[in-house]
Amino acid sequence: MITLTVETKVNTYLNYIDGKWVASSNGEIVKSSNPANTNDVVGFVQNSTREELDQAVLSAKSAQKQWRALTGSDRGAYLYKTADVLESRLDEIAKTMTREMGKTLSEAKGETARGVAILRYYAGEGIRKVGDVIPSTDPNGLMFTSRVPLGVIGVIPPWNFPVAIPIWKMAPALIYGNTVVIKPAQETAVTCAKVIECFAEAGIPDGVLNMVTGSGSVIGQGIVEHPDINGITFTGSNEVGKMVGQGALARGAKYQLEMGGKNPVIITADADLDLAVEGTISGAFRSSGQKCTATSRVIIASEIYEEFKQKLLVSVKDITIGDGLEEGIWMGPVANESQLNTVLSYIEKGKQDGAKLIAGGNRLTGPAYDHGYFVEPTIFEDVTSDMAIAQEEIFGPFIALIKVDSIEEALRVANDVNYGLSASIYTKNIQNMMSFINEMEAGLVRVNAESAGVELQAPFGGVKQSSSHSREQGEAAKEFFTAIKTVFIK
Ligand code: NAP
Ligand code: MG
Repeated sequence: MITLTVETKVNTYLNYIDGKWVASSNGEIVKSSNPANTNDVVGFVQNSTREELDQAVLSAKSAQKQWRALTGSDRGAYLYKTADVLESRLDEIAKTMTREMGKTLSEAKGETARGVAILRYYAGEGIRKVGDVIPSTDPNGLMFTSRVPLGVIGVIPPWNFPVAIPIWKMAPALIYGNTVVIKPAQETAVTCAKVIECFAEAGIPDGVLNMVTGSGSVIGQGIVEHPDINGITFTGSNEVGKMVGQGALARGAKYQLEMGGKNPVIITADADLDLAVEGTISGAFRSSGQKCTATSRVIIASEIYEEFKQKLLVSVKDITIGDGLEEGIWMGPVANESQLNTVLSYIEKGKQDGAKLIAGGNRLTGPAYDHGYFVEPTIFEDVTSDMAIAQEEIFGPFIALIKVDSIEEALRVANDVNYGLSASIYTKNIQNMMSFINEMEAGLVRVNAESAGVELQAPFGGVKQSSSHSREQGEAAKEFFTAIKTVFIK
C-alpha cells in the first residue's frame, strides 16, 4: 500500500459514487501489477474506508425509487448502451485484464465479448414476463404474482473472471430494478473500474450503480454488515463465502454464494481418447487452471489408462507458457504470488503423500519468467481419493490422475469430495452416460465436453459446498434478484 502522490495520479482509478468519480477519504491507494511481469504497473485504485461505502450505499438507496419506477424496457436501454460502449472498448479492456491477472489475450477478449452478450441478454429481459396469473377460488377475484426488486444489492466478485462475473451479477440486479454497490476483487480492480466506466459512459442515472474499491476485510465485510444492503451476491472461496453467508443471515439479508470446485473428468474405456485428451488439457490448464469449473481430477478406466496417459503427456508438452499478451502463448502466469505459493505447496504435498509427479512440478525460471508467477502444467499419478491433492481446491494448472476399474468406482471417486460445481465424462456408452447424468453430484454435468464451459442463457451454480444452492445466469438470476409478490384484487 502506498500513499497517493502526483506522479501516480496518472493511472489512478477513483471510486464511482452517486455518478461522480471520487477519491478515498484517507488518501490511500493500492498498486495493481502484472503477474507476468511485476515491474509493469497496471494502475492504482483507492484503498477506501467505510465512509465511502456508506456514501455509496446511501446513494444507491436514494436512487432506488426512481430506478424501479422506470419500465423494464427503459432500464434495458441503459444495458444495451453499456454493451455498445464495452464492445467499442473490447480490445483495451481485454488487454487490461491480461495485464492485471494473466489470462491470455484471446481468452480475455472472449470473456469481454461474453460480458457484452450478457448485458444484451439482460437488457432483453426487461420486456419478458415477471409473473403468473393464478386462478382464485373467489369468482370476483384476480390473483397474480409479480416480481419486485430487493432494493440495494452488494456485489462481491472474485478476480478470475473480472469482466464476466461482475456483469453477470450487476446486469440482472439492475434490470429487475435494484440499485448496486460493487466492491471489485483487489487483484482486478482496474479492469472492473473500466467496466464501470462503460456504464457511466452509457449514462446510467446517478446512484444506480456505485463502485467502492478496497480490501475484503473493510469494504467486503462492510457490505455484509451494512443494514441498508438488502441482497449480497458473492463469488469466491469457501472460506470467505461462509462468512458472507453467516453475516447476511444474521441480519436477514438475502444472499447468494458461488464458491470453489474440485471438478472431475471421467474417461471410460470406450471414450474417444483424442477428444478426451483435448478436453482434459483445455479444462485443466486454460487460464492456468484458475476457473471455478477447471478440471482438477482425471478419473481413468484402467483398460485405457496407459494409452490415455501417454497421449496426455505428449499433449501437455505442446503448451506454450509466457506473457499472455504475446502471440502464440497458450498459458499465462498464475494471478499472484500467493496463488503461486499455493500451487507449489500442493506439489510438495502430492510428493509427500506418495503420489508420483509425471509432468511439470516447477516454477519457471529464466529472463522471460523471473519477474512473473509462472508454474509448469503439473500432472500427478498414483493418486488416491483421500489425498489432499484429490480433495482440496488448488486453483492452478494441476491435475491428479486416478485409475479406476468400473463406472461405479469412477462415480464413487468423482462424488467423494465436498464440492459439486461441474463434472465431465468422455464416453460413447449410453449406459455410462446415463449413470453419470443421474448420479453425479454437481450443478453442471457435461458429456463429451470439458468441465469448464458455461453458457450465459443457462443456469449456473453448484451443489454441496460449491454453492448456497441458488443459481446465477439465464432466467435463474430472477430468483435471486427479485422477490415474488402475490397480488389479489377483488
Ligand atoms: P476470495 O478470496 O474468497 O475473494 C472473493 C471476494 O471476496 C473478493 O472480492 C475479496 O476481496 C472478497 N473478500 C475477501 N475477504 C472478505 C470478507 N471478509 N468479507 C467480504 N468479502 C471479502 O476468492 P478469490 O481468491 O478472489 O477467487 C478464487 C475463488 O473463487 C476460488 O475458490 C474459485 O473456485 C472461486 N470461484 C467460484 C466461482 C463460481 O461461480 N462457483 C467462479 C469463480 C471463482 P479482496 O480482493 O479484497 O480480497
Ligand atoms: Mg495483478
